[in-house]
Amino acid sequence: MIRAAVITISDKGAAGLRQDLSGPLLQEMLRKMGAEIVHYAIIPDEREQIRELLTRLADTPKGTGEQGVELIITTGGTGPAPRDVTPEATLQVIEREMPGLAEVLRMEGYRKTSLAVISRGVAGIRGRTLIINLPGNPKAVREGMEVLIPILPHALQMLRGEELEHHANSEWRMKGKMTESYPMLSVEEAQERMLALVRPLEPEWGPLLEALGRVLAEDVFAGVDIPPLDNSAMDGYAIRAEDTIGASQDHPVRLRIIGNLAAGYTFPQAVEPGTAVRIMTGAPIPPGADTVIRFERARRDDDTVEILEEVRRGRNIRRAGEDVRRGELVLPRGTLLRPQEIGMLAALGRAEAWAIRRPRVAILATGEEVIPVDQPLAPGKIHDANSTSNAAQVLRYGGVPLPLGIARDRREELSAKIREGLEQGVDLFLTSGGVSVGDFDVVKEVLAAEGEIHFWWVNMKPGKPLAFGQIGGVPLLGLPGNPVAAMISFELFARPAILKMLGRKEWDKPTIEAVLEDAIERKDNRRHFLRVQVRREDDHYYAHLTGPQGSGILNSMVQANGLAIIPEERGELAAGERVQVLMLDWPEEVIL
Ligand code: AMP
Ligand code: MG
Repeated sequence: MIRAAVITISDKGAAGLRQDLSGPLLQEMLRKMGAEIVHYAIIPDEREQIRELLTRLADTPKGTGEQGVELIITTGGTGPAPRDVTPEATLQVIEREMPGLAEVLRMEGYRKTSLAVISRGVAGIRGRTLIINLPGNPKAVREGMEVLIPILPHALQMLRGEELEHHANSEWRMKGKMTESYPMLSVEEAQERMLALVRPLEPEWGPLLEALGRVLAEDVFAGVDIPPLDNSAMDGYAIRAEDTIGASQDHPVRLRIIGNLAAGYTFPQAVEPGTAVRIMTGAPIPPGADTVIRFERARRDDDTVEILEEVRRGRNIRRAGEDVRRGELVLPRGTLLRPQEIGMLAALGRAEAWAIRRPRVAILATGEEVIPVDQPLAPGKIHDANSTSNAAQVLRYGGVPLPLGIARDRREELSAKIREGLEQGVDLFLTSGGVSVGDFDVVKEVLAAEGEIHFWWVNMKPGKPLAFGQIGGVPLLGLPGNPVAAMISFELFARPAILKMLGRKEWDKPTIEAVLEDAIERKDNRRHFLRVQVRREDDHYYAHLTGPQGSGILNSMVQANGLAIIPEERGELAAGERVQVLMLDWPEEVIL
């Protein structure tokens, strides 16, 4: 277990004038990654005090006293204010700098907030203690920790002088009680652990239509007013309102028509008293005119027009800038680009934009029995359903699928395919099959030997064996082999990962409450996801099972539009009970 210390450095915090949010947040995030917090303090921005505390914590021998720490993270005092001295104090303490760590923290921070560049935090080692400065605000702490979580375990392992778990000792790691050494996680715990290691990808400059469904990575300000000029909202006559004073059916006002103006042109002369210009919708209001009267409200007679009523000044005119004002922040970064946002960008005269790029998702099937769909079946063989269903899911949720084919159940074959993926530069690996405890379950062996496993048991059905780890720095989800289990695990794990990489903040699918029309038996306390068809009738949703629920029965997935969620603690369910249903599809006939 990592022994860590958290130090908040803040004059106001130390004086009790401001509540420390960053220190507790840091502790929580460190605990989640399995660290033990052995020291927490709030101290003022005093160089000497900071230096003294860092030195004392780092110099306490490890493994002997209660206080020995191998990781110290500070928060606060990294800015340019005169009292900010955390980096100076830290530099006095550390013996070997780790500049890359500090730069990556700044760089990643900058992708979210440009002000991150003025943080002066440093990182380095004293003896066998790693010291890292993070800025003081909780947002920066959270983002900084997201950068550090994948790096820290390795960095600390090397700092302790331990060999990295490599090919050399992978053999014995694989044997023995490997399966028991990984705990069974709840769906939420597993999702949280996985998402802690997945980060939004970088922005890319490209044509608007390619940005559809992606997240905007720039603040878009209006360079122009929209509309750019006052213009007519109607087809009619541009007039001066004061000319209509006293007009009525019996005493119409007669105005002389001095010209015609279509949208796209400007009128070369002014509308003088007693005159009017025929004007079409969208055409700029000529100088002198202040009102438009619709054709239907006027009577034309050759080159004059009769106005039969008094009109209010400003009628039927769309004002310059009434939609968007020049200089206004129209679309903040982080906005999901739907067709309407794409339209707004176009209206602003933008043909291209910065948007978070799409993740490249490598897809790999495993199994001696699995053959490509374009090959004829042979005895004992089955067609590869998962590569295609998973690729379709990747496309549907905004990723770019890169199918790597099928690896037979041999470590070298799977390793070679994974290497191929790494060479092509992928952001996520999805494998299917080979994660249970059978004799030929190679995914977990390769992951243990060449990467690292973070978990592989999730308390759900289908999909209990579900491996998650990293290989070559790329997250890998080992989905189960049964086609339905592979698809449902994708929904619950790969989908949030892809959406997080795409810079999205929300990844929950809509759930609804439905009346169950079938009784449900159960023999275990896993969370069940049952394939159901939901329909709506008289203000209620009803869900019925679509058939046998075996995790290989793809047909009941084909019939389903939702997954009924049966919580761990629920016993048997009778028909008529209410359940939550995660909607896989949300067709119009279900919404009503
Ligand atoms: P495994 O997790 O490798 O033990 O596979 C579990 C079940 O899923 C076995 O019956 C496999 O034949 C089946 N399976 C594995 N991969 C695929 C695939 N790509 N397409 C269809 N079925 C598969
Ligand atoms: Mg297999």
